[in-house]
Amino acid sequence: MEAEASNGNGNGNGNGCSNDHDIIRWFDTISTNVAMVQRETLRQILELNRGVEYLKKWFGDKDLDIREMDACEMESLYTSLVPLVSHEDLEPFIQRIADGDTSPILTQHPITTLSLSSGTTEGRQKFIPFTRHSSKTTLQIFRLAAAYRSRVYPTRSKGRILEFIYSSKRFKTRGGLMAGTATTHYFASEEFRIKQEKTKLFTCSPHEVISNGDYKQTTYCHLLLGLFFHKEVECITSTFAYSIVQAFSSFEEQWEDICKDIKEGNVSSKITWPKMRKAVLDIIEPKPILASRIEAICEGLQGSDWFGLVPKLWPNAKYVYSIMTGSMQHYSKKLRHYCGSLPLVSAEYGSTESWIGVNLDPSLEPEKVTFAVMPTFSYFEFIPLYRQDQYSGSGSVDFIEDDPVPLSQVKVGQEYEIVLTTFTGLYRYRLGDVVEVSGFHNETPKLKFICRRKLLLVVNIDKNTEKDLQLVVEKGSQLLSKHRAELVDFTSHAELTHQPGHYVIYWEIKGKVEERVLCKCCREMDASFVDPGYVVSRRTNSIGPLELCIVERGTFKKILDYFIGNGAALSQFKTPRCTNDRTLLKILDLYTVKRFRSTAYG
Ligand code: AMP
Repeated sequence: MEAEASNGNGNGNGNGCSNDHDIIRWFDTISTNVAMVQRETLRQILELNRGVEYLKKWFGDKDLDIREMDACEMESLYTSLVPLVSHEDLEPFIQRIADGDTSPILTQHPITTLSLSSGTTEGRQKFIPFTRHSSKTTLQIFRLAAAYRSRVYPTRSKGRILEFIYSSKRFKTRGGLMAGTATTHYFASEEFRIKQEKTKLFTCSPHEVISNGDYKQTTYCHLLLGLFFHKEVECITSTFAYSIVQAFSSFEEQWEDICKDIKEGNVSSKITWPKMRKAVLDIIEPKPILASRIEAICEGLQGSDWFGLVPKLWPNAKYVYSIMTGSMQHYSKKLRHYCGSLPLVSAEYGSTESWIGVNLDPSLEPEKVTFAVMPTFSYFEFIPLYRQDQYSGSGSVDFIEDDPVPLSQVKVGQEYEIVLTTFTGLYRYRLGDVVEVSGFHNETPKLKFICRRKLLLVVNIDKNTEKDLQLVVEKGSQLLSKHRAELVDFTSHAELTHQPGHYVIYWEIKGKVEERVLCKCCREMDASFVDPGYVVSRRTNSIGPLELCIVERGTFKKILDYFIGNGAALSQFKTPRCTNDRTLLKILDLYTVKRFRSTAYG
């Protein structure tokens, strides 16, 4: 792709070097005249996959000469003949690929690798085709984002990144294809190595640590090596903010063991995988002075509930960088606590299916961040969404939809569902994310992530999304901070087995809180759902009082372990904000220690 051609010989990420200029210039070119760039992208995808079974199904036997066609004609022919689909519609095709059918089903080049989506939002993991193109776009978006970041927060060349990254176990499908999460494939790819060289920032942990598969042992080694290299660490990152919070909370418990290892140049016996032990031992050496310094800092930090841990332990870190939007927003509060005044930079927007947008304003607070769409990565369409009023439609319909529009025709302030046509063989594929257009960079839209499309909480005519739940929980938990407690994590469930159905919200909290305060939190949440369907139903008692369940400390770790046990990777883990999963509900109910029913609505 163009960026590769024009970025071959830069020299570092530091102070506005030519490498950064090249990639920024490239993006400025492709984000201008996006209608043409998008048609060209579609043309490339269709040409690359000309004659595949799936496209034949819709185009018929006509062997369309895409190259010769007028671009607008090609685009309208494609969108009129090929239908919008969801993952379920493509599943039979992808399954055949997984089972070893090498005929051109979705792509002309045989797919040899499949990615597993995290599955924590939809409740089940999905197979998505993965090709070299996927890793290349990852490299491009990371380099572009790094170039924009280095304008605001320059880093020293040849510094290090403390990256809390985790591979899942890769396995072979029945047909012999390699399967694993997209991040796992990327960490194992040549592009992961190239990115470090191009940005001149090197990860602290060797591959043996990242690929271990036991997230507890990996976290320990990331922390150990991050502290060993503490002076060189320029920034701290993870894919999703959850992993950083998880890592520092385990640091609170393990810092003494880590200091002992730094002092002795050893690795704790709890690290059992020989390859990982050896890789870490090959790097570290005894540093008793450093160990005593860290010990003294940690003793001090304990008194302030670890406030400002990051700048104290990594004095040269310029920022913390991770996805902090959407379902990760909850963790940015805790991250702020750990980071003190160190900037938090919200990372890019993408999915296993395709990268979507880049954060061009790294100095923006995570709550305000937007993502400029990458118009060469996929062909994007946008389904306009309109919120339903309380009296129209059935309970299962969340938005009224209009016909999809191309990228060049989106409007500021409008909400859309994203539709993708990718180089990896997904055609007019509904991603299921709701975004709002908040402006433009040149001609490419800047998107605000709103939520997953799927309705979360529904009992009857009520419709509450992940975003609605997030706002309600934020309101309800404000009372906790006044009582020096904090909300560690949360999820919810629409309980329908007894009439009337009602919402159950599960909270894990840190700190002691009196029952009367929790009662208030429960009432506050119930009263804070503004969805008219919910309010009307609560008033008429066709939805019962909201139930707040307080679970034991560590319950959400058990949920994480359950997902990891089923093949999820920590790098892509997102706590499900609403669940009907029986095992999960069993865990939650088993560890519920207190229950409250709302007294809002009398
Ligand atoms: P997965 O492919 O399973 O790892 O998850 C991809 C999903 O994560 C996307 O479809 C979004 O719902 C969510 N996601 C990814 N990046 C962001 C972001 N920057 N902000 C909010 N949500 C995101």
